[in-house]
Amino acid sequence: MRRLSAYLLIFVLVFFASFSVVHASQTEDLLGIGDRVLNRFFDMLSDSAKTYLDITDGAVEVNVFLPDVLLVNMNNPVDRYYRPENMIDIASHVSTTRSPLLLEENAANAYIQMIAAMRDYGITDLAAVSGFRDFEHQTRIHNIEVERQSRYFPRDEARRRAAMIVAAPGTSEHQTGLAVDVSSAQVGFSLSTRFENTAAFSWLSLNAHEYGFIIRYPRDKTDITGVIFEPWHLRYVGADHAARIFESGLTLEEYFEEYLTGAWSE
Ligand code: ZN
Repeated sequence: MRRLSAYLLIFVLVFFASFSVVHASQTEDLLGIGDRVLNRFFDMLSDSAKTYLDITDGAVEVNVFLPDVLLVNMNNPVDRYYRPENMIDIASHVSTTRSPLLLEENAANAYIQMIAAMRDYGITDLAAVSGFRDFEHQTRIHNIEVERQSRYFPRDEARRRAAMIVAAPGTSEHQTGLAVDVSSAQVGFSLSTRFENTAAFSWLSLNAHEYGFIIRYPRDKTDITGVIFEPWHLRYVGADHAARIFESGLTLEEYFEEYLTGAWSE
């Protein structure tokens, strides 16, 4: 009986997914900025991934959801109202430089476990500096960066540079609750590339994937990720995806493309 309802559920999901897809191509023009993203992704989706295509009429929310991976970058924004359903304040469990510090619950639980493992290894000076940020918060800090860059560059160039340092609103992984910035006492808990030379970073770069986290913006991958080297920014993708990303050395953008086009399907 349980199996029968599972099949029924899958049938319903596939039915609605195919309906949405047809519907989306008809309303392409209404989607504005989203249609370019949609077309690009739709062309390369494998059939199984199409099931997860999530389309909201008239909104920019055309992200492609895999069961547990969400790609957010300057070409794939989330809706301004996007907010993870269940979040946990990790400030009551681990070291943080602010309170509250919210993460999506799976990411939060994995992070807490990871910190316990680090502690067992003897590294005790890591702290979470930033977690979930809503659209408005992201707008404020992005605008501050645009102003800062505007002192040195014309407005358009200032905006372009600012977006690589502090993501434009809607394009930050922090809005998904799946990203956490970390730092250590060794560098005064600053978000600086000097964090790369700490014991905490060495441990993370070798072990974080076991807890489902990846170093999201590696050195020398800026042309692919669109973001400067950020050794402090960890992204939760779940242990299976994280292991594959770790072993392949791919960025999330590259992995996503390979995954969706079927290169990773068993
Ligand atoms: Zn970050």
